[in-house]
Amino acid sequence: MVGAGPGDPELLTLKAVRAIASATVLLVDDLVNDAVLAHAAPNARIVYVGKRGGCASTPQAFIEKLMVSEAQRGEQVVRLKGGDPFVFGRGGEEVEALQAAGIAVTVVNGITAGLAALTSLNVPLTHREHAHGVVFVTGHAKPGDSGTDWVALAHTAHQAKLTLVIYMGVSGAATIQSALLQGLRGDTPVAIIQNASLPNQRHATATLATLHATLQSEHLGSPSVIVVGNVLQGLQAAHAADPTLALRAQG
Ligand code: SAH
Repeated sequence: MVGAGPGDPELLTLKAVRAIASATVLLVDDLVNDAVLAHAAPNARIVYVGKRGGCASTPQAFIEKLMVSEAQRGEQVVRLKGGDPFVFGRGGEEVEALQAAGIAVTVVNGITAGLAALTSLNVPLTHREHAHGVVFVTGHAKPGDSGTDWVALAHTAHQAKLTLVIYMGVSGAATIQSALLQGLRGDTPVAIIQNASLPNQRHATATLATLHATLQSEHLGSPSVIVVGNVLQGLQAAHAADPTLALRAQG
């Protein structure tokens, strides 16, 4: 189970590169940059099991069965997942399925998108003046789950001085924004970073009060992370002074 990082192949770990090179079968998610596969052996079999990208989604149960059957046939299987396999990637469920089938698993960390996104803008996630900690939180709950309690989170983030890093938050941004406004100030700085670490990276700055409007006016979509917190004060001020910054920060 290997984390492919946020996109930039130079952000792979040495351990990930070694695992990819030793695989006879690679089962690849759709947020994995193809450039990462340059490390695969020439005769390795590459199977795309992504859930978007125009193809019908591959059901999770099918992916788990495929991992198990390939491993049982004696293949050296690498399950390649975007970012870190254990951050919102259902890696935990997949490891459980493998262990239940008696298959030995090694998990290799990757750099999660929420770490790479702010770093690409030279903004820290914590800062002694502004944030004592970070929360990685999902904007998407599994069907039937009531999901994140954004109002409670906003109060906690305010009181405990936490940076919020929201994954999969674009489609629910309007709801998330209005709930967070019940505990955080409207002028709390926000950044939206799309395709972090890739050549087509784009970002915008906003405030909590203008988050949803900014997503729409800047046409920012998935995959993006939304970061909320006072660590962004400096970036917000720089953007106010020079509105072309968002365009020039790419690459
Ligand atoms: N395991 C992955 C997260 C999978 S959930 C990780 O650790 O990064 C998918 C979500 O991750 C996307 O909806 C988006 O919120 C975020 N994401 C993944 N890659 C991204 C990237 N390059 N730039 C911005 N967000 C990204």
